[in-house]
Amino acid sequence: MTSIAANMQAVIGRISRACTAVGRDPRAVALLAVAKTWPVAALREAAAAGQRAFGENYVQEALAKVDALRSLDLEWHFIGPLQSNKTRAVAEHFAWVHSVDRLKIAERLAAQRPAGMLPLNVCIEVNVSGEASKSGVAPGEAPALCRAVAALPQLRLRGLMTIPEPATAADAKSAAVRRRFAQLRELRDELNAGGLNLDTLSMGMSHDLEEAIMEGATIVRVGTAIFGERVKS
Ligand SMILES: *Cc1c(COP(=O)(O)O)cnc(C)c1O
Repeated sequence: MTSIAANMQAVIGRISRACTAVGRDPRAVALLAVAKTWPVAALREAAAAGQRAFGENYVQEALAKVDALRSLDLEWHFIGPLQSNKTRAVAEHFAWVHSVDRLKIAERLAAQRPAGMLPLNVCIEVNVSGEASKSGVAPGEAPALCRAVAALPQLRLRGLMTIPEPATAADAKSAAVRRRFAQLRELRDELNAGGLNLDTLSMGMSHDLEEAIMEGATIVRVGTAIFGERVKS
């Protein structure tokens, strides 16, 4: 077994134990392999070990991988900050976008999603930590943005995404981080009570996927625990 395959097994084991701990069905939690900075060969290894869904943060880097791995029938998720001039490429090549935090971006994705493709699955990124520097819409602004996005053609609003700060292993175990995940779940529940139909909570990364699963995550986005430490550029 390659080390990526072994790492994947370990992550799947963590997901399954976290689900068992809170009485959730492990099939209700999808693993997204976050492959930013890793070469095509690493994604091939993960795919050979059974991984289908891959997350990417940088459009140019992602397009090269989408093209190189076309024959494998993978599912591509865009999870990074998205600028207006990159929306067309994302609309044409991805199945999901987790990081929508402005209506203008959603409108461009809706207009640019090719008619022959399934609707683009969208999550609204929410900044539950409240840091001014971070991306994501403030929780108070999420309901209006969700309602506007849900009304757009060619998009399917699936749920909410968050990246709570900070992300060290020790901090991940803190009650504060778990509280952030709970806040996202509560916001999703409020939105559904208000008439939306959100089935997705994209939350939890290598350090904190257990806490996220305990608070209801349906997609965990895992990079380091599968591919190793990224080299900082
Ligand atoms: C890089 C990244 C991840 C994966 O983080 P790891 O700590 O490597 O698991 C998840 N979500 C987003 C949005 C990212 O940018």
